[in-house]
Amino acid sequence: MVNNFPVLVERIKQEGKSLEGGILKVDSFINHQLDPDLLEQMSAEFNRRFDPASYDKIVTIEASGIAPAVMLGYLAHKKVVFAKKKKPSTMSNMLVTEVFSFTKNTTYQICISGEFIHAGERLLFIDDFLANGKAANGIIDLANQAQAKIVGMGFLIEKAFQQGGSLLREQNIHVESLATIASLDNCTITFA
Ligand code: 5GP
Repeated sequence: MVNNFPVLVERIKQEGKSLEGGILKVDSFINHQLDPDLLEQMSAEFNRRFDPASYDKIVTIEASGIAPAVMLGYLAHKKVVFAKKKKPSTMSNMLVTEVFSFTKNTTYQICISGEFIHAGERLLFIDDFLANGKAANGIIDLANQAQAKIVGMGFLIEKAFQQGGSLLREQNIHVESLATIASLDNCTITFA
């Protein structure tokens, strides 16, 4: 089940920092500064793991999911729609749900216009991290509201010591993570 992508594992070993509270800081190549060459390699790996014929559209959440989602969308020739964290006053036919943020310890709303996800559409969700699966569940809720179907979920980094991965796999969702972290105890990064 664990299928680590060596290029990403190496980069995390070189530049990732394990913070207090089980948080991995990867600001130098995922969450703040971006490395397009690495993004292209990671998205090509997603493109090998998710058959483009199996989904119609990619969904993600702003901000950090957008870069890998767009890169995959470019490679797979799929449209990308990102859930917004602020409700735009101009959005019509809005689908809304609540998500609890693990890193910020607050609940926030995410929304997608019903113009961009449709009944019967097959969606692939791409995001930076999988922790407790709250963001992923929010996307499942939005897809349900639109009567669309989530056919897969791809994460750059899964923290296997939190329960998101098992919760999603129990629902028979095809989950792929490019790097799975077994532990961040003692500020040490241990891969699964
Ligand atoms: P979940 O919704 O699965 O509980 O948490 C996933 C979201 O929380 C991700 O979209 C990411 O923004 C954030 N997150 C969770 N864990 C970490 C972490 O260890 N490092 C960083 N940078 N973000 C995280």
